[in-house]
Amino acid sequence: MSTDNIQIGKRGDEQQSEIKHIRPLVDPTTLSHRELLRGDFWRKIPAYKDVDSETFLDHKFQMRNTITSVEKLLSAVQGLVPESFYDDVADGFKHSPMSVRVSPYLLSLIDWNNAYADPLRKQFIPVGSKLLPDHPKLTLDSLSEQEDSPVRGLTHRYRDKALFLTLDTCPVYCRFCTRSYAVGIDTDDVEKVSLKARSNRWDLVFQYISERPELEDIVISGGDSYNLRASQIRQIGETLLNMTNIRRIRFATKGPAVMPQKILTDHDWVRELTWVANHGRRLHKEVVVHTHFNHPNEITEITRDAMNALYERGIVIRNQSVLQRGVNDTVDEMRELVRRLSYCNVQPYYVYAHDLVSGVEDLRTTIQTGMDIEKRVRGDVAGFNTPTFVCDAPGGGGKRQIHSFEHYERATGISVYTSPAVKGGFFLYFDPVDTLDEDNQARWADAAEHQDMVDDAMDNARANMAVAAKASSIDTSDADGPVH
Ligand code: SF4
Repeated sequence: MSTDNIQIGKRGDEQQSEIKHIRPLVDPTTLSHRELLRGDFWRKIPAYKDVDSETFLDHKFQMRNTITSVEKLLSAVQGLVPESFYDDVADGFKHSPMSVRVSPYLLSLIDWNNAYADPLRKQFIPVGSKLLPDHPKLTLDSLSEQEDSPVRGLTHRYRDKALFLTLDTCPVYCRFCTRSYAVGIDTDDVEKVSLKARSNRWDLVFQYISERPELEDIVISGGDSYNLRASQIRQIGETLLNMTNIRRIRFATKGPAVMPQKILTDHDWVRELTWVANHGRRLHKEVVVHTHFNHPNEITEITRDAMNALYERGIVIRNQSVLQRGVNDTVDEMRELVRRLSYCNVQPYYVYAHDLVSGVEDLRTTIQTGMDIEKRVRGDVAGFNTPTFVCDAPGGGGKRQIHSFEHYERATGISVYTSPAVKGGFFLYFDPVDTLDEDNQARWADAAEHQDMVDDAMDNARANMAVAAKASSIDTSDADGPVH
């Protein structure tokens, strides 16, 4: 800045004797994102009423006491919910592609006095009475990850990025998991693809990555990288960073949202993660953590301590949420989530339209809802903390901005996306049938109507694209192709 500018600034200061609040002061209740849950909140759960802070904050306690059966889950909250709720949960799991896995921390964040409405309960513990039939167009691997998998446990869809599924376990099992084809143990409904954490499987993945010069960016996921041993974090991180083509790696984990205690007390794990981040920095390569919070209630004072611990070590954390009905599908909840994440130095990166996953139709919502919320979140916080709302196009189109469809037939709930940089052709997303009007619900109930509905949406999409192509200076014919 020049000296002139500084002097002009000074003169300005001297002339102004009082501050004018051009904007009215905010209502303090709008700062609720800074009020994080603290104290012994877990003691209200009968199973943890005698557990002290030191024990509850120990990740070994959390892991040892993680609940993996419906019976144990229900006995932990005995007396808090009516008897009928037990049967409802048992019925819910009977129809779920995911098995039970809930940490004591997560269990304690659920309001069991209002269990049916609780946004955390809805994500992890199904109740039979609320389940809806799957959309007729749903498939188990809706993103077709296995089609783009040259080696078991590696998805290479985008030109420069690959997804490395290192193992098939997580610290929690989410009802809405896109990888229910592989993650967790077999359920009544699904026999899983095996992705064990084995070095000989990983060696093939490493070989493939090193043989593909266009690959620069690797997502280390699963399952969940929280479940990798400390030595494995280092082995994978070091091997990838030492490849000349690799410039960026991300460890993907839902762990901070369901067991932040690990970051505070598993010193070996955090030390190795920090080593990998520092090693990357020395090589001028990026190492970040991608996590997955969906609701502001998942963020407590313990979370903030854990995020601070990573932040102090120079580790960048980004968040990817899933838009879910009854969880975060209101403007207020999504804004609060984005503000709270930003407050804890977690960058809100993506909000996904819910994938077409079996057994969770009650959690999916419409593309329209996603667009409406996005419009009201954008501008509320700084641009770099504003998540991009995307639809991960079923059939392997990759992430498309939620409003970038070629056509959205709202009546039948069909949106048509193209993704020329990833794959030519068309990708269809389907809103939940129960959100449509009665006539269109009836059409989806009749299999003979399905192709007509798709054809109508496709005709409109092609017509819109033809109009756009006339106005564009870009050759857009690369988007054309089959419907995936
Ligand atoms: S943590 Fe991620 S991979 Fe694991 S069950 Fe949940 S959504 Fe699926």
